[in-house]
Amino acid sequence: MTTNPPPLLIDRFGRIVNYVRVSITDRCDFRCIYCMGEDMTFLPRAQILTLEEIETVCRAFVELGVDKIRITGGEPMVRKGAMDLLRNIGRLQGLRELTLTTNGSQLQTMAGELKSCGVKRINISLDTLNETLFKQMTRVGDLNTVLRGIDAALEAGFRRIKLNAVILKNRNHLEAGNLVAFAITKNIDISFIEEMPLGLVDSHDRAEEYYSSDSIRADLERRFTLLPCTENTGGPSRYFLVAGSETKVGFISPHSHNFCGSCNRVRLTAEGRLLLCLGNEHSVDLKQVLRANPTDLGKLKSAIVGAMQIKPEKHEFDLAEKPLIFRHMSATGG
Ligand code: SAM
Ligand code: SF4
Repeated sequence: MTTNPPPLLIDRFGRIVNYVRVSITDRCDFRCIYCMGEDMTFLPRAQILTLEEIETVCRAFVELGVDKIRITGGEPMVRKGAMDLLRNIGRLQGLRELTLTTNGSQLQTMAGELKSCGVKRINISLDTLNETLFKQMTRVGDLNTVLRGIDAALEAGFRRIKLNAVILKNRNHLEAGNLVAFAITKNIDISFIEEMPLGLVDSHDRAEEYYSSDSIRADLERRFTLLPCTENTGGPSRYFLVAGSETKVGFISPHSHNFCGSCNRVRLTAEGRLLLCLGNEHSVDLKQVLRANPTDLGKLKSAIVGAMQIKPEKHEFDLAEKPLIFRHMSATGG
């Protein structure tokens, strides 16, 4: 009888880390109001990891037992060479699932190639189906381009695509029902996310526009029957099946339903910082380790194993306070 080797990435609280989210760029072609300021200064090229360095870090993680990698950003599809990187990561032996989070702006032309690169699933951000509101929330995005991108991803054969919608009170909270109806017609899933206080934003007061997952759920239950799903996806979403459909509705509720106890993930920022918690600054500078020891994967792996010792127990988000975390979601690997 064969037994599985003991997990190599395990933190002080006994949580096994088998999932890494990798931000391959802090740049983006949108400027969503909850994610960024209007005028952003992005990192200079030399400060962010090269594509080769990102691939090396992914290889180290997979050799340490990570079996799921999500590529994100910023907008990952605006980084030149992203497709080759995805293809190379997709080939790593031991990786079970390569996934992508995107704003959908490039999917019309890239969905087919993404599929052939081995990307298994795609999350697409969509906060509203109203063109004017979409422009207000993304500042520069075009709704119809994203909708065509969603169709292109379906045509390319992606299944169980998930929409991500950040809901803000009195901006798009009335959109939730239409987004669920849209997800049902496309036979895809959707998660609603409570806004997290990452970085300073200039467009709104986060505490005033907080709209809890429970409020969204109560609104939705006037229009749909939500049946609790028993399956545990291992992630922060609590899922419900919309009766009479195959669409699952998830709620990611960092404020109202803390999910840290089952956290199985870490994040690699575009500049090569291994971030151990979305809501804390505990991190290890993997870029420095990589650049000091470019041919020594062992050093990189020891740094990653060592980092598990500083993974915090939980995040400390407080909407009433000024943000304690000054990095934006785009620089974080959301
Ligand atoms: N650009 C891609 C996109 O928008 O899908 C990937 C990166 S984006 C940072 C990843 C996810 O983080 C998106 O679903 C976005 O809606 C979410 N997000 C960004 N800022 C957030 C915030 N302050 N609170 C909660 N979610 C946020
Ligand atoms: Fe760009 Fe995604 Fe942030 Fe919107 S949420 S600004 S699309 S990184």
